[in-house]
Amino acid sequence: MQYRRLGRTELKVSCIGLGGMGVISQNHPDRTSAHKIIHTALERGVNFIDTARSYFDSEEIIGDSLEGRSEQVYLATKTYQRSAKRAEKEIETCFEKLKVKKIHLFQLHHVQYIEEFQQAAAPGGTIELLKSLQKQGLIDHIGVSSHNPAILPQLLETDIFDTAQFPFSVVERDHFKKVEEIVKRRDIGTIIMKPLAGGNITSVEAALLFLLSHDVSTVIPGCSTVEQVIMDTEAGINFRELTTEEKQQIIKDTENLPDQFCRRCRYCEKVCSKNLPISDIFRCEDYLILSATYARDQYKSLGKSAALCSGCGQCEKICPYHLPVREKLKKAHKRLSKGKIEDFAVRILRKTGLYDIARKLYFELGGKIPER
Ligand code: SF4
Ligand code: SF4
Repeated sequence: MQYRRLGRTELKVSCIGLGGMGVISQNHPDRTSAHKIIHTALERGVNFIDTARSYFDSEEIIGDSLEGRSEQVYLATKTYQRSAKRAEKEIETCFEKLKVKKIHLFQLHHVQYIEEFQQAAAPGGTIELLKSLQKQGLIDHIGVSSHNPAILPQLLETDIFDTAQFPFSVVERDHFKKVEEIVKRRDIGTIIMKPLAGGNITSVEAALLFLLSHDVSTVIPGCSTVEQVIMDTEAGINFRELTTEEKQQIIKDTENLPDQFCRRCRYCEKVCSKNLPISDIFRCEDYLILSATYARDQYKSLGKSAALCSGCGQCEKICPYHLPVREKLKKAHKRLSKGKIEDFAVRILRKTGLYDIARKLYFELGGKIPER
């Protein structure tokens, strides 16, 4: 496995890390296969695992898996909370679930709008709390994750963040282009998410080698099977720098991908008279493959439903990828609006602390893998 410097954190991280969403118990009801994924990753040289408070029980599963071996990895997690008061409780839970006394990298999760950052950076905001935890030696570094290429450079120019996590793939190259110069100048570590464009890219090794042939610190595919871990880590174990011609060829090869997926450039959102968070709605739809409850929760938290679309078609005129945005929104809304009763039941069970028992019973009695 090749190891790279994570910018000014000076951590030497495996160039292929592990995204924590693939190990949640929605995908691994008895958790044994989740532990196997994590242990296989470690055996193949992965030493960087990224998770988040909002990834259901991902932190807990990672914490259990790493019991007695947490020294072998650098752990990164994140919070959505923008105020210190709300973040404090969450961060306590992160430590408890991950079963560690120190977290190497704590990130402000999914900053999409500059107002969110301003809230987190204001007195009494999450950043103040993270800095104080850093002084106490409880966290080592502070990072940020964002899907919005328009604000990422602004966030990084504040010089608050030691790392930046953003999507980058053969078909989604905007973010990297926009931050390439800044991360170099400020020595910020880069953590690449969505390297396979939500499963749309199937030539895995070539796609990962493409990314690793850029100046990035680590690429973190989410793996939900041991086979995927083996396949994805191959690129880091047998890394070789691709030539310019090879990179161009890979870009050319992926031009033929079914190009109906959103690249999150957000041009459409600037012209939408209903101010719909179009790219975020499609992002929520992508999550359905991992967890229906999570996808629907995220959709709800956007605060704007795709059903508000007036059908004016302005978005389609501006979309550089000629996506049938209206049709896609209708489909996404239909898929994300189902399952209200199940979501309600799951929420109640979680609140009452009975969720794990209920899940166990469900699997034992039903004997089948449900959507959640
Ligand atoms: S068609 Fe719908 S999503 Fe597109 S710009 Fe009009 S209101 Fe917005
Ligand atoms: S729908 Fe098109 S314009 Fe809108 S964010 Fe996606 S790719 Fe960009």
